[in-house]
Amino acid sequence: MEFETLAIHAGERPDKTYGAVAVPIYQTSTFAFEDIGKTRGFDYSRTGNPTRKILEDTIASLEGGKAAFAFATGMAAETTVIHLLSAGDHVVTGDDIYGGTYRLFQDVMTRFGVEFTFVRMDSRRNIEAAIRPNTRLLWLETPSNPLLNIVDLEMAVDVAKKHNLLTAIDNTFASPYFLKPIEFGIDLVVHSTTKYLNGHCDVLGGAVVTTTDNLTERVHFLLNAMGTPASPFDSWLVLRGIETLPIRMERHQANAFAVADFLGGHPAVKKVYFPGLESHPGHDIARRQMKGFGGMVSFEINGGEKETNTFLRSIKLFVLAESLGGAASLCAHPATMTHASMPEEHRRKVGITTELVRLSIGLENPGDLIEDLKQALESS
Ligand SMILES: *Cc1c(COP(=O)(O)O)cnc(C)c1O
Repeated sequence: MEFETLAIHAGERPDKTYGAVAVPIYQTSTFAFEDIGKTRGFDYSRTGNPTRKILEDTIASLEGGKAAFAFATGMAAETTVIHLLSAGDHVVTGDDIYGGTYRLFQDVMTRFGVEFTFVRMDSRRNIEAAIRPNTRLLWLETPSNPLLNIVDLEMAVDVAKKHNLLTAIDNTFASPYFLKPIEFGIDLVVHSTTKYLNGHCDVLGGAVVTTTDNLTERVHFLLNAMGTPASPFDSWLVLRGIETLPIRMERHQANAFAVADFLGGHPAVKKVYFPGLESHPGHDIARRQMKGFGGMVSFEINGGEKETNTFLRSIKLFVLAESLGGAASLCAHPATMTHASMPEEHRRKVGITTELVRLSIGLENPGDLIEDLKQALESS
């Protein structure tokens, strides 16, 4: 079956007890045993829950993985995956990854003896130069947040295979509708389902997709041991969101193209970051490996802090808020919001300037979005 159909029908649906067409919310912590040592498939909701299971099967099927697990947040998913490693292991990752991922790696996991090197992932040479004898994992994010840099997955997987490294990718920005990393040989796919998969800014969630029995067993062991899964109600909300993922992604992208074109032609804008633009350095790779370019657009305002602040205070329809991927368009200032947990020196080095604004383009009428940006740019 094709993606649009799987988004609505994957997993065991309709419910086998009463035939409910909407997936029932099994709001229970525990399950009656049939007999000593004999369950009906579930015993305790931390370990497994029927609502969560349908979400997990749906995400696994959309990504083309072996299995998937649903977590309380994207960070819970990442925390669980990084615990596949042990003290003394080393990870190579991007220098422009999500701020929360950077914080988990640099400020938490290093205290447990896991080591990280953050490099620009745009060349084989950079990645290979960072690999050490104790490197175990290559952690990728593409398009990256907030600069929308593109990692060449064919190249990255080739390097990883040559050096016998496990590969994990944060596929939050593209969603499986636009990018299927497992087709490139990636071992683990991670999501913040808070974003496009749920799509309505009303839940936090995460997911991990596995590709082998061994990884499936180890990730589930950690989820259960560390207590990081999603609740039944949150799982249900994400499932409901996924049903419309394909049509939402198409509209996010169409609106993003309209906004990127508008910004590119405005004198108050210094630079536009959108992989759909031919001028974007990762455009050709994105074209080759993705089915679409997503709905995130970042740009730099001509001027400094004063002009940026005026813009941020003048924008009306776009909500000044963190997060992304919802129906409502959001506007974020990475330097003071999503990437405030990244030291200023590191931010500057990777190009996250004070004048950088990140837009999550929603599902509104594109003319209204452009009108709002126009009036805010004129004020700035
Ligand atoms: C939001 C986000 C996360 C973290 O997810 P939460 O659900 O907020 O914990 C991780 N990676 C990316 C790319 C994100 O945008």
